[in-house]
Amino acid sequence: MPALNLLDSRRIDPSVDHEIQAIATGSAAGSTCDADLAAAPWDFDTVPGYGPGASLGDVIPTGSPLQGALPASYREASEDELHARIVAAKAALGDRVVILGHFYQREEVVRHADYVGDSFQLAKAAQALPDAEAIVFCGVHFMAETADLLSAPGQAVILPNLAAGCSMADMADIDQVEECWEQLADLYGPLDVPDADGLLPVIPVTYMNSSAAIKGFVGRNGGIVCTSSNARTVLEWAFARGRRVLFFPDQHLGRNTAKAMGVPLDRMPIWNPNRALGGSSAAELDDARVILWHGFCSVHRRFTVEQIEKARAEHPGVKVIVHPECPMPVVDAADEAGSTDVIRRAIEEATEPTTFAVGTEINLVQRLAAQHPQHTIFCLDPVVCPCSTMYRIHPGYLAWTLEELVAGRVVNRITVPDSVADPARVALDRMLACVPQAPARSN
Ligand code: SF4
Repeated sequence: MPALNLLDSRRIDPSVDHEIQAIATGSAAGSTCDADLAAAPWDFDTVPGYGPGASLGDVIPTGSPLQGALPASYREASEDELHARIVAAKAALGDRVVILGHFYQREEVVRHADYVGDSFQLAKAAQALPDAEAIVFCGVHFMAETADLLSAPGQAVILPNLAAGCSMADMADIDQVEECWEQLADLYGPLDVPDADGLLPVIPVTYMNSSAAIKGFVGRNGGIVCTSSNARTVLEWAFARGRRVLFFPDQHLGRNTAKAMGVPLDRMPIWNPNRALGGSSAAELDDARVILWHGFCSVHRRFTVEQIEKARAEHPGVKVIVHPECPMPVVDAADEAGSTDVIRRAIEEATEPTTFAVGTEINLVQRLAAQHPQHTIFCLDPVVCPCSTMYRIHPGYLAWTLEELVAGRVVNRITVPDSVADPARVALDRMLACVPQAPARSN
């Protein structure tokens, strides 16, 4: 298999799940955001909602996929038994299957992954492995869709638990986005007609953390996809082509990136899909440079300036690094903000023992802490609260999907229809072709 520069997390066992179980039974100090996290995830798969954890209070859209019942032999198996069954099934399948694990995935699952990374790194891994018959994606639904877009036509992309959605991605529903586009057309005039300067009224930009339907919408309407690593470059691309940007679903990534580029806050109105004109006035939208969709990540929204102040008071010299999905005041108060890859590299490249307070998902933070014992690394949020949708992929589901493959059955396949996939690939290709602008020359 091609060597990819992804985090090898299989050397250690910083299990957040074990910590949650210990807190729930009282055998360890600390707190978790929801005691129900210690319960079996299949107890929540048949009821609407994201289940316990950071996104518990988020509204789940109607029509979100529900996971069917997991057979009892998986629900009742011990952790050791599930581990052995996964190892045996994987050995039986050999190179026919590749397992991808997201940075935020629980350790009990990630230890079986062939590749570990962020959503885009894993989608690229799927693209680089055309010979595997099946790609088991231990992440969330939009990631499996992106892997399906980039993988070879005959490959089956499998999401072990269909209930593993992403509440942020689900905040930009395609019907709401189409409705927003119509309202903007009423306001700005035809959206596909450039003005005298060759600029379109508005360019749609979607974060990678969005459904394939949204990526397809963007591709059809002259827009582009971005990641947390390349958001600035992508916004530069969009500003070269349009008067304004409609950015979704994450308002915080959009605001933090545009602010760093010098866009004033009063030229970044919010679009709340439940209000007429998104809750902004026509004048505000006319003057806008970036229209921010009212979406957020419930994991990264938990980080606060108070947590940073406390970390600085208790750990003089601490370096605070946060993800750009955090709210703007948190990003402004941090020493550094960047994607999971930026966070990971900052820690890896520190030559002296350093204390890091990190504002991102706890599974990644604890894994980094275990891999870099020379540093002191802790999560800014003292409450053990994983991404609750990612957390739905329990080893029982992984064992089930693999053993079904051994038996010749493909379950939980994620397929993006061609009518959506074709324009979505256009939007992804625009992103891949987009390179940072060279700094302006001074004479
Ligand atoms: S951490 Fe946030 S953006 Fe990432 S999958 Fe979980 S809910 Fe979605």
